[in-house]
Amino acid sequence: MSGDAQKTFYLETFGCQMNVHDSEKVVGTLIQEGYRQVETVEQADLILYNTCSIRDKAEQKVFHRLADYKKLQAQGKKFGVLGCVAQQEGEKIFERAPHVSLVCGSASYNKLPGMLVQLEGKSAAREIPRPAGENGVLQDDAASVMSVWNSLSPEPEAWSPVPESRKPEAESLIRITGLDDRQTDKCFETEFTSRLNPHRGYITIIEGCDKFCAYCVVPFTRGKERSRTSASVLNEALQMADLGYTEIQLLGQNVNSYRDPDGKKSFAELLAAVGEVPGIKRVRFTTSHPRDFGKDIVDAIDAVPTLCDHVHLPVQSGSTRVLDAMQRLYSREQYLQRINWMKSARRQISITTDVIVGFPGETESDFAETLGLLEEVGYDGVFSFKYSARPNTPALSLDDAIPEAEKSRRLDVLMSKQKEIQKTRYRKYVGTECEVMVEGHNDARAQWIGRTSQNKTLNFTAPEAATPAVGSYVPVRVTASFPNSLLGELVV
Ligand code: SAM
Ligand code: SF4
Repeated sequence: MSGDAQKTFYLETFGCQMNVHDSEKVVGTLIQEGYRQVETVEQADLILYNTCSIRDKAEQKVFHRLADYKKLQAQGKKFGVLGCVAQQEGEKIFERAPHVSLVCGSASYNKLPGMLVQLEGKSAAREIPRPAGENGVLQDDAASVMSVWNSLSPEPEAWSPVPESRKPEAESLIRITGLDDRQTDKCFETEFTSRLNPHRGYITIIEGCDKFCAYCVVPFTRGKERSRTSASVLNEALQMADLGYTEIQLLGQNVNSYRDPDGKKSFAELLAAVGEVPGIKRVRFTTSHPRDFGKDIVDAIDAVPTLCDHVHLPVQSGSTRVLDAMQRLYSREQYLQRINWMKSARRQISITTDVIVGFPGETESDFAETLGLLEEVGYDGVFSFKYSARPNTPALSLDDAIPEAEKSRRLDVLMSKQKEIQKTRYRKYVGTECEVMVEGHNDARAQWIGRTSQNKTLNFTAPEAATPAVGSYVPVRVTASFPNSLLGELVV
């Protein structure tokens, strides 16, 4: 174990579930390296931000945070930027925030222990030779992907101190980068995951993305698509079950693009196998890409009761013309075919989605098609976003940008429409009985917080004599509905 047992770190996470889970693994790694996690920036020797750059607002947050705490550098604290902004901005972060010492993209997390040693100044600065195969020799199907990355970034330097020519003026500043692993075949697998919740936990089964949607930074920030073996995933699921976890959420930018490197299991088969691990009561998976969404996934949900009856299937737009411009690789009709598979299932599958409004060139009539699609599908939830121009992405070169005010108007229209749809859909649950996992207690409202298999929040009251345990599964009768949640009473 390296590091001083007294060394402390603070880690703040921005962004998606992938980032939340990456942070759990980063925390585990740091603890293993002798660090102790603390609750505030003031208590920490090392301050880390795990960042998100999916939209401009998310990216700006980290620079505000870094500016807010810059003064703490005088106390000898060190700062590190991890994740998507780190990968996207690279060494430019050192210029914008000179008090930062460590910049590390998610594809380089396997190298964190070595970088921490360097950060502590415990070893002489050294250049780590890049392993054979990572240096420009491409896998067949990765070649086009890599040519895009390589055209954007300078020749990789492996993780290393900043070269002499770019050394900061202040000699005392340490600058360490982990930015050159986007073509790696390795996932960030560690036995030292510090999970936040003792009842439900994430397992990443696939990292990166090769889809290159016209608006999206993820392929540039998270690197090439790579899957873990099904054996390794199942092993982790078994370990979690042994530790008392009852709910597992399989994660990936496109979880259903999963390809077992050993060729043993398809995504649907892996899903079913995780659902059959003794002790596991619920399995979720997110996010699914419509292009790779096969009917076998619906069949698995029908066949294995532990698989939750909820699918998040981002559509982005209801117009095939816009979907083509977004390079989404499916049409409105193909998307609706997937919806029909789910609606024809024996179980009632709840469907949620993501929508982007104001993509360049989106006309009123394209937008009307999206509104029509919301109606036709009847989603139980929609995450809607205004299009945000991102560095490196093909959409930057598209004409016909939609003015910000018009994007906001479309977002408002879409959100109000969806609110009405949800009101109607949630109302149908009143009078029914649902099993919930108890997530906690809201003292202010004197209500228990529960989550249904369909991923709906169902708050409920319970008699004092029948206080439910957090993490347990209990039956609740629904008595009222709102656009985003249900209310009920424990069935005793
Ligand atoms: N891989 C998933 C898929 O293809 O549906 C999506 C993952 S992405 C991290 C989450 C969501 O962010 C996307 O579904 C999209 O709606 C939104 N998003 C991505 N890039 C965006 C951009 N440039 N502007 C606005 N929203 C964006
Ligand atoms: Fe981004 Fe598209 Fe990949 Fe999803 S599939 S992560 S939206 S590039």
